[in-house]
Amino acid sequence: MRVTMIGSGYVGLVSGACFADFGHDVICVDKDAGKIEALKNGKIPIYEPGLEQLVANNVEAGRLSFTTELAPAVADADAVFIAVGTPSRRGDGHADLSYVYGAAEEIARAIQGFTVVVDKSTVPVGTGDEVERIIRQTNPDAAFAVVSNPEFLREGAAIEDFKRPDRIVIGAEDERARQVMRQIYRPLYLNKSPIVEMSRRSAELTKYAGNAFLATKITFINEMADLCEKVGGDVQDVARGIGLDNRIGPKFLHAGPGYGGSCFPKDTLALLKTSQDYDAPQRIVEAVVSVNDNRKRAMGRKIVAALGGDARDKTVAILGLTFKPNTDDMRDSPSISIIRTLQDAGATVRAYDPEGVEQARLVLDNVEYCSTPYEAMEGADCAAIVTEWDELRALDLKRMARILKQPVLVDLRNVYDRADVEMYGLSYSGIGR
Ligand code: NAD
Repeated sequence: MRVTMIGSGYVGLVSGACFADFGHDVICVDKDAGKIEALKNGKIPIYEPGLEQLVANNVEAGRLSFTTELAPAVADADAVFIAVGTPSRRGDGHADLSYVYGAAEEIARAIQGFTVVVDKSTVPVGTGDEVERIIRQTNPDAAFAVVSNPEFLREGAAIEDFKRPDRIVIGAEDERARQVMRQIYRPLYLNKSPIVEMSRRSAELTKYAGNAFLATKITFINEMADLCEKVGGDVQDVARGIGLDNRIGPKFLHAGPGYGGSCFPKDTLALLKTSQDYDAPQRIVEAVVSVNDNRKRAMGRKIVAALGGDARDKTVAILGLTFKPNTDDMRDSPSISIIRTLQDAGATVRAYDPEGVEQARLVLDNVEYCSTPYEAMEGADCAAIVTEWDELRALDLKRMARILKQPVLVDLRNVYDRADVEMYGLSYSGIGR
């Protein structure tokens, strides 16, 4: 199949490279000329484990190429995927669909022959209808069908997730389009990944329902952690105790500083906007969004409390900045609110992150970036683990106790054992224990 990917970011690039690896001919388009130039030179603009090699292999095999020219890439395609960003719209929290609609118009002008236009971006219910209307209006002669195929990959494990997904969701109203989608995903039948076919609107909603449910699960255990702290319980034990129940399951039950990233915050908000527009309130999700918003600054205050209640003129070493390990993505990372809270309280912040510093510089001011966790901790009044990168899971506690001015460790990811830490004379503050 000839597949064209519009948008070569975290989703478009990974999906494009994986489709090429399945044997399809793939062109990845992006209007960011710098990104395309880098890709043509074998440089990957994002950090995603395994992606560089996957891209290199498929470029070499002649199945994957990159361009800024949308029209020729669309003209010959069997399927054109829209994988552009859908960030929160400034001011009201609705999904900003301007990139999706912009892409739809450009695609419409370039279509030749029957083409399946696949929306892979996360978009509110009814966006497929609007994309269809835009294409028909822009090019009344175009032969096409619009399909929803939401993406569920996780940054940091994106290739594995794309190649071995729990399921593939295809929302289509047109049998010919469904056939094309089955062909595109045929290699995954071998991996026995279920393909769930449904209406376009159901598929659009499935993506939001999934993310809202996961955000709820995280927020549930975070609030349970707060209760554990008050009553002298250990949330790790509670999470294990409930997670072994098959009806609940152990995943997404790790208490922490609140969810962040490029998806959960904006998608939960967009779902609430849809629910308001359709007069079907989602009260549980409303509570989740509000609890999680409060939590991020509360984590900053937790660090201040560990400093003895006063952060003025103190130095805090923040270990880990990205919203989770194995990505350079800083979008809506809890570290942003935590650092701002500390700065508001008068603290100086030093930070270490293996991959996130370049992105962090774009969103955070007055942070001193260090090249090792120990450099960040040297002479600091406190160390706080915000992202559980592997290399932060086995720090030299003896060395930490020596180089920190005050031996204080705040572990917002519960990666250390209190007893191990206290053995070296460090004070320990975790989440819900
Ligand atoms: P991204 O910002 O990394 O990439 C989007 C790319 O699209 C950018 O490179 C941008 O230059 C390009 N673009 C925008 N308009 C264009 C146009 N008209 N023509 C060509 N290129 C254009 O975004 P992302 O993280 O890949 O997310 C894309 C979509 O996938 C979003 O809707 C997101 O919610 C969804 N999603 C993301 C993830 C994730 O983990 N990042 C997972 C599942 C779903």
